[in-house]
Amino acid sequence: MTQNPPRPRIALLTTGGTIAMTAQGGRGGQLALDGAALSASVPGIETLAEIEVRPVLAKPSASFTLSDLGRIAAAAQEAAEMFDGVVITHGTDTLEETAFALALLTRAEAPIVMTSAMRRPDQLGADGPANLAAAIRVAASAKARGLGLLVVSDDEIHVGALVRKTHSFRPHAFSSAPFGPIGWVAEGRVRIALKPAFDLPHLAYPGGEPVVPIVEAGPGLEPKVVEALAPACDGLVVALPGAGHVAAAAVAPLAALAAERPVVFASRTGAGETLQNSYGFGGGEIELLAKGLIGAGPLDARKARVLLQLLLAEGAGVERVRAAFAGI
Ligand code: ASP
Repeated sequence: MTQNPPRPRIALLTTGGTIAMTAQGGRGGQLALDGAALSASVPGIETLAEIEVRPVLAKPSASFTLSDLGRIAAAAQEAAEMFDGVVITHGTDTLEETAFALALLTRAEAPIVMTSAMRRPDQLGADGPANLAAAIRVAASAKARGLGLLVVSDDEIHVGALVRKTHSFRPHAFSSAPFGPIGWVAEGRVRIALKPAFDLPHLAYPGGEPVVPIVEAGPGLEPKVVEALAPACDGLVVALPGAGHVAAAAVAPLAALAAERPVVFASRTGAGETLQNSYGFGGGEIELLAKGLIGAGPLDARKARVLLQLLLAEGAGVERVRAAFAGI
């Protein structure tokens, strides 16, 4: 008599999001599905894996705090040490921040895979069940081991440290541009075409909610905006045009803040990195660095904010923050 091979054991961590929401009367989408209902939405799920549901949070992701991200990371780390793989269901809105935080806070051989949905289960073309099935297959795959935090959406496999939400309502809402997905799922087969080659620092989250706003500048940034924010923030991220260029008038208040707390400047272009030694005009990156601001390098403002919040939560001072960004 032949025996079936044991099914992979997958922990399903639930945190909320559209994947678990249905329309409630005239009040729009509200959280309604627990982990058991989510599992039940995938026909034949029991043939893919043995699933253990572990509820972690139940809120829309725009309301997540840094403590919530720390809680998801701790639950994912624990599950990755006990199971063959981990799937985390999450709202799409701030999935990129949680994915980046988990890439910094977790280290595991077992795949940790985030997934989500753009359409509720009660909407035509609901994408949650297919995304969940694909995420379970990736989490159960030996090919996905040791690749770091992954995000599965619309049959694509993305590196969690690179992915961004780039559409507000279509099912194909995630992109790792200017790179791309590192793999895909086709007819249930998991393909990995590329492996990430970068290292991120491994951080711990001891608790705390450092206040780090993001200010995006265009042509012009009023000094009074920076001055008004300064007393309220533990650090600041400014998303700047081009390679990191701000209105000359904003340099003085930014420099004053940078003398006390970390001020990180990122490029708002969505690709490339902040430069260090190309532009010498007032407000150019050479002046910003000379005045003590810290370049985000290849990180966009949202990822830079997550890194800065986690470093501040660890108690890092300006020089440790500078070294951490320089090491990215
Ligand atoms: N409101 C949802 C969230 O929690 C949106 C989504 O999941 O797409 O992010």
